[in-house]
Amino acid sequence: MMVLAHATYGMVSSVFFTKRIDRASSNKKFGLFAFAFAANIALHGAMDLLPHSHPIPSYLDMVLALAIAFLIFFIKKPYRILAVSCYLGSVIPDVIDMGIFRVLRSDGFRIFPWHLKKEFKFYEAIYTNTLMNVTFSIIVILACAAIIYLKRKDLANMISPEFKM
Ligand SMILES: [Zn+2]
Repeated sequence: MMVLAHATYGMVSSVFFTKRIDRASSNKKFGLFAFAFAANIALHGAMDLLPHSHPIPSYLDMVLALAIAFLIFFIKKPYRILAVSCYLGSVIPDVIDMGIFRVLRSDGFRIFPWHLKKEFKFYEAIYTNTLMNVTFSIIVILACAAIIYLKRKDLANMISPEFKM
């Protein structure tokens, strides 16, 4: 799926952990960051296995995904490491497999198994189905919009006071 979709969901997903962060001791916080990071890697895999297309050029996709990272500056200090953990977990599979390995020209090698087209060939038939490609991308966008709407109070609580209107 588009890196932008992963980055957006990753950033939005941090809202699910804020209440736990408020209650956690510093030791437990570290565990929560690790869990948020790992959960977002797993979710990246699940999203990649859905039929999808890449409607925008990959350089633009990367730039937009990076722009999402700048939202961290608007987040209150106590939630910043959490947001960074979620964001990094959501984009790191593509940064390593599609970024670093592509630059190193080791194209056949992937760390994250869902990026191996050969092993997941049975999906390719449905990847070519344009209607399904678009459907799942729209579902991801709608899911993000629904979370933003339903969790709007918790999201507002994450924003630094100096940026509140
Ligand atoms: Zn991926």
